[in-house]
Amino acid sequence: MKVDLNKVVSIHYTLTDNNGTVLDSSAGREPLAYIHGMGHLIPGMEEGLDGRTTGEKLNLKISPEKGYGVRDERMVQEIPVSAFGGQEVKPGMQFEAGSDEQRFIVTITNIGTETVTVDGNHPLAGVELNFDVELLDVREATEEELAHGHVHGPGGHHH
Ligand code: ZN
Repeated sequence: MKVDLNKVVSIHYTLTDNNGTVLDSSAGREPLAYIHGMGHLIPGMEEGLDGRTTGEKLNLKISPEKGYGVRDERMVQEIPVSAFGGQEVKPGMQFEAGSDEQRFIVTITNIGTETVTVDGNHPLAGVELNFDVELLDVREATEEELAHGHVHGPGGHHH
């Protein structure tokens, strides 16, 4: 079956950057299952899979614009150390910030004597993505899956 709107698509994938470093992979885990066309995957992934058939192996090169976005340096901020109230902070630590309308994850990138640098960009913002994808299965979504907006069973929700 071909990948099309509202089909349940199951894939195995390995994501590498342009240096060949593996950033993420579904190897050794359940395949990733998603409903096509709902915007659950990054746009470049859904575009690359659109119209493809079960069993195909793809190599998708995805620009930041179609991936996790371009970096926005305005998302990098210096926060006084005192704002952390004595809580221990280390580079690489992540926490949630933002308002009720927009929550996002910020990462501590540097710790100075008086300020802590936090970066609100997605860790993969600005990164060109290379996805090796194996298209394992394509099937019709059930009424229930479409109503819930997610996949049930392997690779999806179990409830
Ligand atoms: Zn459900």
